[in-house]
Amino acid sequence: MPDHVIRVGDVEIMALSDGTLEFDLCNFFPTIPEERWRPHEAHLHDHHVRFNLGSYLIRADGRTILVDTGLGPRPKETPDVPWGTLLKDFQAKGVRVDEIDMVVMTHLHRDHVGWNLTDAGGRWVPTFPKARYWVSTKDWEACHAPDIQPTRYPNAPSCVWPLADLGLVEFMDGEHSVTRSITTVPSPGHTPGHMCILVTSRGERALVLGDAAHNPVQIQEPDWVSRADMDPDLTRQTRRALIERLEREQILVAAGHFQAPGFGRIVRLEGRRYWRGL
Ligand SMILES: [Zn+2]
Repeated sequence: MPDHVIRVGDVEIMALSDGTLEFDLCNFFPTIPEERWRPHEAHLHDHHVRFNLGSYLIRADGRTILVDTGLGPRPKETPDVPWGTLLKDFQAKGVRVDEIDMVVMTHLHRDHVGWNLTDAGGRWVPTFPKARYWVSTKDWEACHAPDIQPTRYPNAPSCVWPLADLGLVEFMDGEHSVTRSITTVPSPGHTPGHMCILVTSRGERALVLGDAAHNPVQIQEPDWVSRADMDPDLTRQTRRALIERLEREQILVAAGHFQAPGFGRIVRLEGRRYWRGL
């Protein structure tokens, strides 16, 4: 099996990517003094944090589900950006856009909704023509709030809002059963309605982490919040509880912003937790 595919019981999870994004440390983690990064240099690229823009394609219960849709097409003004590659990755991995029948978004930040829709000469059409689109009620409300939308959900007007007019939105709240094997796990903090996606099949389990963590360093330092975390205290609380559960129950993790393909586990060595890629 290629390293971008794992099996969880009867379910298959394939890692896809819309490319990468990089930020200066002080920009993305403004509250963490630089010297605290010194023991964690291995998680950096030339003093920058690099994010994979990961999506996961889940084949379960006869359905094909795409979790998150990246940052979206490259703007015409900046054709050289290192992202915008999701549909190319579909091709490279032999997946067609019309195979997707459910798009599930962990949250509605701009790097998770970018390919939802395609501009067909001034009108929006779904990029995944047979899919319906699942969003959490709380993020749906937040991305329509005039005081936070422009800064926190900048591309919602083009990538999220039109889904309603197209009649394609499905709402999820709390622990929502997406299919028999797939359940949402509310994990608020990064956004009010953030959801992790739990896969359970034949006694095996995996969790699509969403943005409950952005970098493996946060497994060791769960209190390090970034400027993208909308409620810092709730982010810390949620992340600590999740990490404890993932370690205790030895759940396989699919972390979309960690280095691709982002599959790994939380392990404990000499009393401290670490991320170990598969
Ligand atoms: Zn993100």
